[in-house]
Amino acid sequence: MPERLEPQLETVRETILRRNPGEAEFHQAVDEVLASLGPLLKRRPDYVESSIIERLAEPERQIIFRVPWVDDDGRVQVNRGFRVEFNSALGPYKGGLRFHPSVYLGIVKFLGFEQVFKNALTGMPIGGGKGGSDFDPKGRSGAEIMRFCQSFMTELYRHIGEYTDVPAGDIGVGGREIGFLFGQYKRITNRYEAGVLTGKGLTWGGAQARTEATGYGLVFLTERMLATQNRSFDGAKVVISGSGNVAVYAAQKVTQLGGTVVAMSDSGGYVVDERGLDIDAMRELKESRRGRISEYADEHEGARFVSEGSIWDVPCDVALPCATQNELPDDAARTLVANGCIAVAEGANMPTTPAATALLQEAGVLFAPGKASNAGGVAVSALEMQQNASRDSWSFDHTEERLRAIMNGVFRTCEETADAYDVPGDYVRGANIAGFVKVADAMLALGV
Ligand code: GLU
Repeated sequence: MPERLEPQLETVRETILRRNPGEAEFHQAVDEVLASLGPLLKRRPDYVESSIIERLAEPERQIIFRVPWVDDDGRVQVNRGFRVEFNSALGPYKGGLRFHPSVYLGIVKFLGFEQVFKNALTGMPIGGGKGGSDFDPKGRSGAEIMRFCQSFMTELYRHIGEYTDVPAGDIGVGGREIGFLFGQYKRITNRYEAGVLTGKGLTWGGAQARTEATGYGLVFLTERMLATQNRSFDGAKVVISGSGNVAVYAAQKVTQLGGTVVAMSDSGGYVVDERGLDIDAMRELKESRRGRISEYADEHEGARFVSEGSIWDVPCDVALPCATQNELPDDAARTLVANGCIAVAEGANMPTTPAATALLQEAGVLFAPGKASNAGGVAVSALEMQQNASRDSWSFDHTEERLRAIMNGVFRTCEETADAYDVPGDYVRGANIAGFVKVADAMLALGV
């Protein structure tokens, strides 16, 4: 537990944790929000009286289903599928699907819980949800991925819809998988309901800048945060963990703004090049060739591949964890501080452990929580829904401008809320309180 809670909150916490045994990541996500709420509850006793925290921590609906599929050797495989429809006070459930062997109910619930507040912070009319499967796409052929996606959608289709629940991608689910999923939804329902999924391809209902949105949004928000200390990306040394969609486009935007990306990683290790990585080459390697990051070092003189240790050992001004949950523990935070890092902004969901977050904040490192800093992806998903609903499609520049305005708004909300609760510069508390108030007030208005 990150810090001592008021007795009232401690009781609520115990109830929630007892009701959800064995779900460590969900407990962590709940604890992280509860730790911010003490001062809010003093001002809003109606939240306590209406059991709003207990209601918010209980998903509206949890769907768990069998996903049978046939592999390339003709063997029948079975995976487990999930969709947690967490909260629809602000709009249809909205959030990605993650295909990764680590996925179980506790991970989907942590992600869904985070998503509720993140989506609220964007100011868009979207509720929160999350889904996925313990299916491991690594090493699977395109045909296997397609059959898996089709089987997954054969159950999921009855639970989703543009006014009900709108899934998108997350780890292991990109444009290719969204295509297979959308194709199966269309086949089963005989409806071209473009707004049922986001992250679609540009020729079949997708939005410009959706692919870039999480990474770009992360950098836009970090830019605002750096500006509070008269700093910028220009001339900054940046370390970005991961090399998926979020990491690659964060790297692209950092480079455009004059920063140097000195290290990136995948599950096999990291590459480092003090002169700056070639982001176009990285994108080509990861997106088109689906290669390993070690190949980057083979192909680029001066770049080193490191399979041991931690990417956070690489000295930097700004660290952007864009890989996965709990990838930045307290010893890594200590190293970042010792190496003079001035800002950490989360591109992944909950990549920084609670102890590491506390350590960074105490050391005066600017810290942006994922709920705020990685909201750009889902925000542009909401813009994709808007375009689908009006059968329109906007230009890249227009969409990027909208994204920038949304991220500015998210940052302003965190900043103003932190000020209003006498914790200036604490964007964790700012994000948690602002997101919570928005959802809680909508729930109260809608009745029990
Ligand atoms: N998976 C992304 C997230 O964590 C995007 C979700 C979406 O676009 O619905 O926010």
